Amino acid sequence: MSGNQTFTMIKPETVSKNNIGPVLKVINEAGFRIKAMKYTHLNKKQAGEFYAVHADKSFYEDLTSFMSSGPIVAAILEKENAVADFRELIGSTDPVKAAEGTIRKLFAESMSRNAVHGSDSDENAIIESDFFFSKTERY
Ligand code: ADP
Ligand code: MG
Repeated sequence: MSGNQTFTMIKPETVSKNNIGPVLKVINEAGFRIKAMKYTHLNKKQAGEFYAVHADKSFYEDLTSFMSSGPIVAAILEKENAVADFRELIGSTDPVKAAEGTIRKLFAESMSRNAVHGSDSDENAIIESDFFFSKTERY
């Protein structure tokens, strides 16, 4: 059975372009409820921990530098079938391949500056949510 929560981050380039509001509007209009939210700035070590699964990839250094380059918005989102539905809403990792109307198609600049993060499984949604939020920060 699939869970009803996923985790997202609005990435630094989207924050710096003043697009937090427009991205949240798309997320809300797609039926996701915000269960937790935080405006924060990861340091390089924290970005490295969050993306540890990609430590052996060629893009890891660029990814962790970029994700610690400015503030982000982290959030837990709630909806039936949250993980799969949110992955569909954000679109392909590469915005060139992302479908029309998806968040990455609408807001992303490139493969590395691709607007938002979305969990890829229920298990990772829990791990990623716990990375940012305590039990008392969820409503
Ligand atoms: P997704 O965010 O769609 O789940 P991945 O988990 O594969 O994608 O990768 C994590 C993040 O690393 C991506 O969102 C993207 O910002 C970056 N990334 C992935 N692949 C590349 C690549 N080939 N070149 C540059 N950055 C990449
Ligand atoms: Mg991923």
